[in-house]
Amino acid sequence: MAKRDYYEVLGVGKNATPDELKKAYRKLALQYHPDRNPGDKEAEEKFKEAAEAYDVLSNPDKKARYDQFGHAGLDGNGGFGGASMNMDDIFSQFGDIFGDIFGGGFGGFGRGFGGQRQQRRPQMRGSNLRIKVKLTLEEIDKGAEKKIKVNKYVPCKTCGGSGARGNSYETCSHCNGQGVVLEVKRTMFGQMQTQSVCPHCGGEGRIIKDKCRDCNGEGIVKAEEVITINIPAGVSDGMQLSMSGKGNAAPHGGVPGDLIILVEEVPHEQFERQESNLFYNAFITFADAAMGCTLELPTLNGKVKVKVDQGTPSGKVLRLKGKGLPDVNGYGRGDLLVAVNVWVPKNLTKEEKELLSKLNASPNFQPNPTKQERGFFDKMKDLFN
Ligand SMILES: [Zn+2]
Ligand SMILES: [Zn+2]
Repeated sequence: MAKRDYYEVLGVGKNATPDELKKAYRKLALQYHPDRNPGDKEAEEKFKEAAEAYDVLSNPDKKARYDQFGHAGLDGNGGFGGASMNMDDIFSQFGDIFGDIFGGGFGGFGRGFGGQRQQRRPQMRGSNLRIKVKLTLEEIDKGAEKKIKVNKYVPCKTCGGSGARGNSYETCSHCNGQGVVLEVKRTMFGQMQTQSVCPHCGGEGRIIKDKCRDCNGEGIVKAEEVITINIPAGVSDGMQLSMSGKGNAAPHGGVPGDLIILVEEVPHEQFERQESNLFYNAFITFADAAMGCTLELPTLNGKVKVKVDQGTPSGKVLRLKGKGLPDVNGYGRGDLLVAVNVWVPKNLTKEEKELLSKLNASPNFQPNPTKQERGFFDKMKDLFN
């Protein structure tokens, strides 16, 4: 059967805004919702058709291809790869569209429902695994590959993760293998069929006859595993990265959880960090500040030489562009800000004191600050703002 035009399906024009598309889809989805049309095949088809049209038109990339090439521009069936969109896909992708109407009392709406559909066995999900990774600024600067040993649940090798010895199952008698128990409720939309997970088999529809001895029927066992983690450059303390599917394995061959990596930044001996900028305190002698000098400064990538002008006042900040850390999203690099401090000797010999006394009398040594340098209160205001 030829597919209908997606704009026609949703009853919108080619220039419909995302909001109009959403509204149109929502209206149809509610009208043809399977729980309001139990057993009505035609409604189910309309429901799927609308979801497919919305999936394409709400995605700028798919929409552009559809606008140019029609259905042929989308691989196979509107981009759903192979068979047309199934109910679980629709609910997992667009479930939130019902949220504000069906919210509250209709928990479980986003997942499988409706009697006449082919029952898909619900899968258990493994728990997320959390680890901390300590990183130095040098590692953050370049990005790092870390191999971390974790103790986690992995699928049991003996039973292949099913938990059943010799793959022996029997159909759950409580739900007749459906995994769910149905209940009819009266609501403002009329009769609605709701369902809940079968408490006897946990929704699997079957029960293990003979449990695997190695995992006691769970399908998972604890084991040590070395995980390689690629940390992108520019991360910061407290940031969380997640690796999908690298967490704990799920019982009975379900979907593994995620690995959540908490970044911990090791304080650096020389630099302080603020976002992608680095701060460094340099100390020079009074003579170097007065006559000018070349300073050799550390960076995260080796040393650099910087010229200090003659007459540089203590506290002057030099900005070394791009010598900070890379932005984690790839927006360039921060700067290295160097505060030049004039070091005042704490102990002096008699001879040094005599030499300094002579210089101290010289007219050039007498303080003669400019108006800007006198701007004490401006500086104080800056500090308190
Ligand atoms: Zn086992
Ligand atoms: Zn059951």
